[in-house]
Amino acid sequence: MKNFVLFGPPGAGKGTQAQKLAVEYQIPHIATGDILRAAVNDETELGKEAKSYMDRGELVPDDLVIAMVVERLEQPDAGAGFLLDGFPRTIHQAESLDEKLRAAGKAITGVISLEVTDGELIKRLTGRRICRTCSTTFHDKFNPPASDGVCDKCGGELYQREDDSESVAHRRLEVYDKQTAPVLEFYGRKAILRPVDGEQDINKVAADLMDLLKV
Ligand code: AMP
Repeated sequence: MKNFVLFGPPGAGKGTQAQKLAVEYQIPHIATGDILRAAVNDETELGKEAKSYMDRGELVPDDLVIAMVVERLEQPDAGAGFLLDGFPRTIHQAESLDEKLRAAGKAITGVISLEVTDGELIKRLTGRRICRTCSTTFHDKFNPPASDGVCDKCGGELYQREDDSESVAHRRLEVYDKQTAPVLEFYGRKAILRPVDGEQDINKVAADLMDLLKV
């Protein structure tokens, strides 16, 4: 079963790597941050509740996020496997996910932890630019688009996420250390956790991931 979790602090490269892996394994890439941003944009009830937490770099309450993920995992395209990005982010989320999967006769089969130091994370977050149309990510110094402000892939407009500002980025890293890092121990105990050096070249990280997740 290809039921994977891509784990790591904000800016570790989860989204970039998940896009590659989802294509390689033909499984849906389920990014809770992307789903929440779409809800905020669409001004749904969920989006209205989530927005203030996201703007401050805090976690959206567990019950909202868990319900959202459970609903997404029930879609037929997730039946043969999935790649979670940005979830679980608390012990309670990890335990709820386990319970839900167990009830369906399933389990998480692999967790990759992308390891990147704090100084590097701040540089990556504050320089990140994202395509409004296809969500491809760039970096103004490390991975700039060919033409300023324009997506190489689809020609869409690039923007900077509000929560990638320096002050909110710092808060997100604090929240990661306090609330999310303990989830690593949870998966470590299950012996399905595989660390990867996330400071290597993007393609080398991708190669390491595929090696570790060989199924
Ligand atoms: P991300 O795109 O993964 O960096 O997520 C952006 C923001 O969405 C986070 O800073 C949180 O406010 C919220 N968020 C995303 N995933 C979760 C989650 N699993 N639990 C709680 N909040 C989340």
